[in-house]
Amino acid sequence: MSRPYISVVIPVHNEQEVLEELYTRLTSALDKLNKPYEIILTNDGSTDNSASMLRELHARRPHQIRIIDFNGNFGQHMAIMAGFEKVRGDIIITMDADLQNPPEEIGKLVAAMEAGHDVVNTYRQDRQDAWWRLKVSKWHNQLREKMMPKLKMKDEGCMLRAYSRQIVDLMASTGESTTFIPALALTYAANPTEVGVAHAERSAGTSSYNFYKLIRYNFDLVTGFSVFPLQVFTMIGLAISLCSFGFVVFLFLRRLIHGPEVEGVFTLFAILFFLIGIVLFGLGIVGEYIGRIYQEVRKRPRFVIKEIIERPQDEPIMQIAYEANAKN
Ligand code: UDP
Ligand code: MG
Repeated sequence: MSRPYISVVIPVHNEQEVLEELYTRLTSALDKLNKPYEIILTNDGSTDNSASMLRELHARRPHQIRIIDFNGNFGQHMAIMAGFEKVRGDIIITMDADLQNPPEEIGKLVAAMEAGHDVVNTYRQDRQDAWWRLKVSKWHNQLREKMMPKLKMKDEGCMLRAYSRQIVDLMASTGESTTFIPALALTYAANPTEVGVAHAERSAGTSSYNFYKLIRYNFDLVTGFSVFPLQVFTMIGLAISLCSFGFVVFLFLRRLIHGPEVEGVFTLFAILFFLIGIVLFGLGIVGEYIGRIYQEVRKRPRFVIKEIIERPQDEPIMQIAYEANAKN
């Protein structure tokens, strides 16, 4: 089997409704490019029929479709990482299974890679998602730009992206278990670019992300690539300490001038509760970092692979031709 030039890596979590269409559209888009390719699909602990459907897709094109079957649900980014550890191609494309990123756009990304870029990011033109997701995304993109000015991306949520093999090998070697792949790639990229791609509504099934999961996911991005939240707290802490000192002096002088007094005690409570709120929030942020440090130092495997369904890279082409004939 000739070595693939393009590797497409796709995480799959409960996507039984879309896999057939994904197969048809993706293979026909890739066939048109006329370059050797492979598709790596990671089953991230699906509880529907995705696992058996993926097996069946492998059987259809055993020399092009490789399946990594996880032992449980380790998250979208770990599913992609597992694919990164196994890629055989030179240009690696990541995309979602749900066809929100049209596979027909892959040619555009490959062309940008061939023009000499090592990372091709994308932004969704005319994004088709729930209104609240568009709003949250917009705020978050603005906040991220302020916190992480080095990460230049118009749209962090679009997973249709292309990376050179060198960048992918670097990402796979980090061993990080809470990460955000597009941001990680940008920290290593020497010559990144961005292209606009079409965006569609989910073709079937439902999104795996609810509001809570999106918040958790964004904490991974922020804490993984910036200490800005901790710095903000240092500055807020400093400002509040200065103000409180002034307040103590003021109260002390009042005590001397007016003698003991109790009026204004509720105002004091209000101020106190407000400060306690800030302290708890700050503790939470510190906790987010500590939790992640704890996760990394335990050095537990970041995902567990139950089975890999693939053909060896060096399998002689004769063998594949023979099996195809035997089937016909
Ligand atoms: N996904 C995954 N593991 C998860 C959640 C999602 O592998 O725990 C996959 C999912 O199958 C899809 C991609 O990640 O291919 C993006 O998920 P989804 O479409 O649910 O997210 P959204 O597009 O709504 O952000
Ligand atoms: Mg989606």
